[in-house]
Amino acid sequence: MRYEAPDTIKAAVGLLSTAKGSSRILAGGTDLLVQMRSGMVEPDLIVDIKRIPGMRDIVAEDGGFRIGAAVSGAELREHAKLKAMWPGVVEAANLIGSTQVQGRATMVGNLCNASPAADSVLALIAAGATARVVGPKRARDVAVADIAVGPGKTSLGKGEFVASLFLPKPAPRSGDAYLRFIPRTEMDIAVVGASVSLTLNAKGVITAARVALGAVGPRAIVADKAAKAIVGTSLDETALANLAAAASAAAKPIDDKRGTVEFRIKVAGVLARRAAVIAYDRAKG
Ligand SMILES: Cc1cc2nc3c(=O)[nH]c(=O)nc-3n(C[C@H](O)[C@H](O)[C@H](O)COP(=O)(O)OP(=O)(O)OC[C@H]3O[C@@H](n4cnc5c(N)ncnc54)[C@H](O)[C@@H]3O)c2cc1C
Repeated sequence: MRYEAPDTIKAAVGLLSTAKGSSRILAGGTDLLVQMRSGMVEPDLIVDIKRIPGMRDIVAEDGGFRIGAAVSGAELREHAKLKAMWPGVVEAANLIGSTQVQGRATMVGNLCNASPAADSVLALIAAGATARVVGPKRARDVAVADIAVGPGKTSLGKGEFVASLFLPKPAPRSGDAYLRFIPRTEMDIAVVGASVSLTLNAKGVITAARVALGAVGPRAIVADKAAKAIVGTSLDETALANLAAAASAAAKPIDDKRGTVEFRIKVAGVLARRAAVIAYDRAKG
């Protein structure tokens, strides 16, 4: 196994593009090193991106924030402006593992590990975040929802990696929230996750919404019908019931030791409903 820590994006792309055998980016390593230890993956090349300038930075851009691919959950939590703008995203990232794990774990690693249960991914999708993909061709901005294509699989091509995430500036009177169900109080993987972001007009009517569901399909589900169920409403009881029903209908989970199909379908609706209430309160300020 070869370990490289290049100091430019170009050098990293060059290494990945010309590598023989399997290669992996190393960000925080909280998934990759565990998978290597257990023999799940045996990369021929590891490219550590943490020495590349910008990878550990959070920079204001177009009223939103660009977050380098190696920014840890702990660094996100320390960024007061980002936390105020997208509290649901920062809270979701800070649900990952423990304090120790959050010192290393990145949102991009969470995304590119492509687990259907990844916590921060749902909040990023609901926030309308994009990932900047660099590679041998021109850099491209890809909706976060389009990076993972199935368990452990991404849409990234040979030589490509994610250099940063962009969280746009929310419209006035916007709010977001992420909730997950786990059997323990912490240090567990979501049995179901749900994220909602929404925007209100001056009268408190929802003018736009996004709903994302996790651990109820092979990849994150963008639940458009659930979002439509609350647009044009003031999140009254009927709207909440419609949202929950649409979220449950969108969920296509499997049975496993952590939850049955029936349970996950039910909980998807419950969590979407509860997340919407929090997002609504945040949007009202
Ligand atoms: C004790 C423990 C508890 C955990 N709890 C949770 C939890 O509650 N919720 C949760 O969602 N996850 C959890 N995880 C999983 C893990 O911590 C997260 O998925 C984390 O966000 C991964 O980030 P990382 O920077 O450590 O990724 P890494 O391990 O560095 O990388 C993960 C994968 O993504 C690829 N990758 C990384 N960066 C890039 C990039 N820039 N471009 C392309 N590919 C890239 C790597 O090659 C690798 O395949 C836990 C892990 C541990 C060990």
